[in-house]
Amino acid sequence: MIVIMKPGAAEESVKAVISYIESNGLTAHLSQGKEVTIIGVVGDKTRLSTENLTVYKDVDRIVPVTESYKLANKKFHPEPTRVKAGNVVIGPDTMTIMAGPCAVETEEQLMCIARAVKDAGASILRGGAYKPRTSPYSFQGLEEEGLRYMKRAGEETGLATICEVVSLDAIEAAVKYVDMIQIGARNMQNFILLREAGRSGLPVLLKRGLCATIDEWLNAAEYIMSEGNPNVVLCERGIRTFETATRNTLDISAVPVMKEKTHLPIIVDPSHSTGSYKYVPSMAKAAVACGADGLMIEVHNDPAHALSDGPQSLTFAHFDQLTRELAPFCSLAGRSFQIKSEGKA
Ligand code: PEP
Ligand code: MN
Repeated sequence: MIVIMKPGAAEESVKAVISYIESNGLTAHLSQGKEVTIIGVVGDKTRLSTENLTVYKDVDRIVPVTESYKLANKKFHPEPTRVKAGNVVIGPDTMTIMAGPCAVETEEQLMCIARAVKDAGASILRGGAYKPRTSPYSFQGLEEEGLRYMKRAGEETGLATICEVVSLDAIEAAVKYVDMIQIGARNMQNFILLREAGRSGLPVLLKRGLCATIDEWLNAAEYIMSEGNPNVVLCERGIRTFETATRNTLDISAVPVMKEKTHLPIIVDPSHSTGSYKYVPSMAKAAVACGADGLMIEVHNDPAHALSDGPQSLTFAHFDQLTRELAPFCSLAGRSFQIKSEGKA
């Protein structure tokens, strides 16, 4: 449930409500908006007398929250959340572009991609060091060595960095090298991994599972948040449908649906959702137009020889052209987006 305080409620009144909630063994989450203060209650509600709560000074009303996810729920926290990864803020005012190779292959490869995506306007470098491939015989990633290259590339370019983690060991290693961790589609309901990501102290990008509903996805976010980590960003990356013309089906409507249900930022991955570089630009523009807070795009110096996901990777020229074409969409959507190179915006 949430307790909505009267506009201009006194600080002592808010404190009194919180202490009543806590004295009953429940947890209170304070959300202080410009006008209204909301206190979210998490825990066993049968331990609390709602009627008693209503007699507290400055309490306006009590609203039940029927959804099983609470901390991720917009009712708990009406203001949009801003998540910081390194020096980048992902949220409602900006367009954050995460770009880079599917997999970190060599240090030289990563460095040259990092410079190119930075020049074209990306602010976060992506690169997989642990690759959960469909086939066990496919390239599985450089693991900790790949994370080291990510750190160096981040230091050299000033880009923030993000890397997928697939195990508890990978989280332990990632904490030493990158600014943000990613939970991939295949691990969206790996609840032990989600809890551990919640304890890592790093912001988490949570990709939608291949067959996950919006509700299941939000509950996965709740696992991370319930460990005390509020810094979760959602990523729509396409779902399995009967359609085979694209690798997955981009559920673009997930963006406005999520905007209604949660305060967490949501970004779109047009690369994994379409599986083809040809469709990435149009889907990227659609994502910006429908309110996404960012994009994750695969870029490679030589897609034909990429060790993974070459067909969906953009060349440097394609990525550069895309960011220039995206600029007017970003400004129409009211989001700041800076292309670094002079004269290109
Ligand atoms: C990735 O981003 O490298 C990846 C494997 O994506 P997904 O988990 O969405 O398949
Ligand atoms: Mn990939």
